[in-house]
Amino acid sequence: MENSSENCNVKVALHIRPLLRHERQNGGQECLDVVPGTAQVLMGSHSFIFDHVYGGGGSPSSNMFEECAVPLLDALFQGYNGTIIAYGQSGSGKTYTMGTNPKESSHRGLIFQVMNMIFNKIEALKHQFEFQLHVSFIEILKEEVKDLLESGIIERLETSDENPESAILGKHQLQVRKASDGAVSLSGSTEVSVSTQKEMTACLEQGCSSRSVASTDMNNQSSRSHAIFTIHLEQKDKNKGEANSSELMGEEYRCAKLHLVDLAGSERAKRAGSEGIRLKEGIQINKGLLALGNVISALGDDKKRKDGVHIPYRDSKLTRLLQASLGGNCKTVMIACASPADYNAEETLNTLKYANRAR
Ligand code: ADP
Ligand code: MG
Repeated sequence: MENSSENCNVKVALHIRPLLRHERQNGGQECLDVVPGTAQVLMGSHSFIFDHVYGGGGSPSSNMFEECAVPLLDALFQGYNGTIIAYGQSGSGKTYTMGTNPKESSHRGLIFQVMNMIFNKIEALKHQFEFQLHVSFIEILKEEVKDLLESGIIERLETSDENPESAILGKHQLQVRKASDGAVSLSGSTEVSVSTQKEMTACLEQGCSSRSVASTDMNNQSSRSHAIFTIHLEQKDKNKGEANSSELMGEEYRCAKLHLVDLAGSERAKRAGSEGIRLKEGIQINKGLLALGNVISALGDDKKRKDGVHIPYRDSKLTRLLQASLGGNCKTVMIACASPADYNAEETLNTLKYANRAR
């Protein structure tokens, strides 16, 4: 099948989870059909084409790592940033797919495989390069950024584009930095140095537990916030200046990061509820998801990019923080997660539309 986004740095995959046991027991029926041998999905009279479709009669989910993550890992070692984003309604399989909560099940999601490959690559290259790895783990809830590897909210401040400010909150001095290319980064979030996969997994686990601390109901909490686990990789050529230092093509040092993003449940975008606080939250989560959809859609549209159409990174914290890793030479993969159950049909259709637009 022809793939219009072959050379594009934005890919969109669909991951259809199986019907869960209780859904079957309640007589749930599947309402998604994958056209065999293609990445086309039918739902009633609607038809959508993605870069990849996993599960539900599409490709086996076991292909996902190879197709969605490996190109980003190769790029990471070449010095390019990347972002993998899981999108979908609560219960659609975002956390399962991403593996954001390693304690949740025995299933090993993308993060585990990503870590594994990073350490394998490092092992294979360490005679030639010196590596430094750091991880950070943050959560965005109600447009506030919380550091999951440190306690407390590290950023509350609304910064204007003209006047990036810094705030002192708790023990953190935080600065929202703006580079000359307009990219915004959050300095002040904890970056933990790790040298083994075990240490990296421990950070993931620690972050997951702080993610749940704030709420008595973890699922509820995690469905309302965006979680961003970031792996920072630095590499230095040990033979810099020597004849065989060509690997880095004359560069002495490379630094890049990979974001793994488990988004808030997409149903929040509109089913925010009517009560004050919840409604406000809903609107703010909506802001992130909406802005992300707009950014990815603009990035995926070659024509728009060539015409220099404005990419609306500034519309939310989420897109501001991911800005340096979306677009340009960065590789972005969105994995839209969907339930096949008929009682989720309305949300699933919204997810398919959102993801299709992103592509
Ligand atoms: P979300 O993070 O989108 O709210 P979860 O990842 O927590 O959803 O998944 C909801 C439930 O469905 C969990 O019990 C999870 O184990 C199960 N699940 C999700 N995706 C799959 C899958 N591909 N195969 C089997 N079970 C899945
Ligand atoms: Mg989840």
